[in-house]
Amino acid sequence: MHQSITIEPFRIKVVEPIHLSSREEREDYLKNAHYNPFLLHSREVIIDLLTDSGTSAMSSAQWGGIMQGDESYAGASSWLRMEAAIKDLTGCPYILPVHQGRAAEHLLYSRIGGKGKVFFSNTHFDTTRANIEYSGATAIDLPLADHQDLDDLYPFKGNLDVAKLDQEIRKHGPDKVAAVILTVTNNSGGGQPVSMQNAKSVAEVCKRYGILFILDACRIAENAWFVKHREDAYAEYTYREIAQEMFGMADGCIMSAKKDAIVNMGGFLALKDLDLALRCRTVLIITEGYATYGGLSGRDMEAIAQGLDEVFKPAYLNYRIKSTSYLGESLHRIGIPVIRPIGGHAVYVDAKSFYPQIPPEEFPGQALACQLYLKGGIRSCEIGSVMFGKYDDHGKLIPASKELVRLAIPRRVYTQSHIDYVIATFKALMVTRDMVKGFRITYEPPFLRHFTARFEPVE
Ligand SMILES: *Cc1c(COP(=O)(O)O)cnc(C)c1O
Repeated sequence: MHQSITIEPFRIKVVEPIHLSSREEREDYLKNAHYNPFLLHSREVIIDLLTDSGTSAMSSAQWGGIMQGDESYAGASSWLRMEAAIKDLTGCPYILPVHQGRAAEHLLYSRIGGKGKVFFSNTHFDTTRANIEYSGATAIDLPLADHQDLDDLYPFKGNLDVAKLDQEIRKHGPDKVAAVILTVTNNSGGGQPVSMQNAKSVAEVCKRYGILFILDACRIAENAWFVKHREDAYAEYTYREIAQEMFGMADGCIMSAKKDAIVNMGGFLALKDLDLALRCRTVLIITEGYATYGGLSGRDMEAIAQGLDEVFKPAYLNYRIKSTSYLGESLHRIGIPVIRPIGGHAVYVDAKSFYPQIPPEEFPGQALACQLYLKGGIRSCEIGSVMFGKYDDHGKLIPASKELVRLAIPRRVYTQSHIDYVIATFKALMVTRDMVKGFRITYEPPFLRHFTARFEPVE
């Protein structure tokens, strides 16, 4: 292969037509969706970058496995295959299958959380925070305060601030701390990687205080790519060995298989402690399904076992990380403010500096997401004050620390020309950026409001 050019390391066997809507159609669609891209119908979208979760394309080997799915209620061979794959990867002896990551979060955090308990993380993902808060506990983010600037090229901006962690544990008292959750890569923190050194330091602190250390391992393979290429000590390791070493430091992990297991549905909780696993298993059987399938079909479990193998292949991971950085670096070159270095699964645009005229109370990220849709039929996701804003006692918005729009790239779905179309759409948005206005919320639910909130344009 020509070494300087990275190509998609697959051929396309099945295609799915895209409806190429007109601007007039999209204006209607967006209005009917109350200016919330989550409420759009997928056929109204041209390029769907809402999420990389469950939207990836499975391989022919995964589809082949689907036909071999064993749908037995108990002890299915597909379960045994998935369980063996996860045990080998994580080193955890107790594996609980679930229908997706948040179910695993619910099992674990409802057991160890509750009123008065505290969780620390480099950044809690939205469903993680919601599950913790729903249990009555508090979730505190400890990202690296010194490396939050957009253009700070620190190679591991996803790291947890270990000195701060130590301070916070002593402040709250170790017995109040339910767990430390290291999210790799750091999804809400810009899809940025976490170094092995950082994971080691976190593990040491947790060990010292006797605190449970959990990996949120949704994108463990993508994180391994960054460790191999940015952390000298790991240059000779395989991606899989890097992941295994990181899992080895934790007391367990939660994984949404909809990310780095390259499937459309699934997840698991893996634990090293039998007693904790049994407590979680009781809830699993009540809420998800029997212990050898959780919320999954046998065919789902076959596809997960296969996907966990494919995701660590060097040709795949190289293509994956380079195609994400192709989008991000191209946007940077034309003057779009993006978080750099570019992360693994998504490009994060800073809507606050793209639309400085829109205050946080009028949601600049929501404005950018709507403009991207109107101009190019591109669906993206606001990660700012709609997702993470809170209200004070007087009902005034406490804005999120950043106003981002995430362009998440589904795995093996879009080609380079699709991505070039996204870049061209951003170019067009540069022309009208001064005229764009914000939004106000007309309806919102009490938890995870970004999924179902409704908006109207500010005049
Ligand atoms: C997606 C995700 C989850 C939740 O998983 P679901 O399968 O969507 O329920 C948890 N943590 C992180 C970091 C994620 O990206």
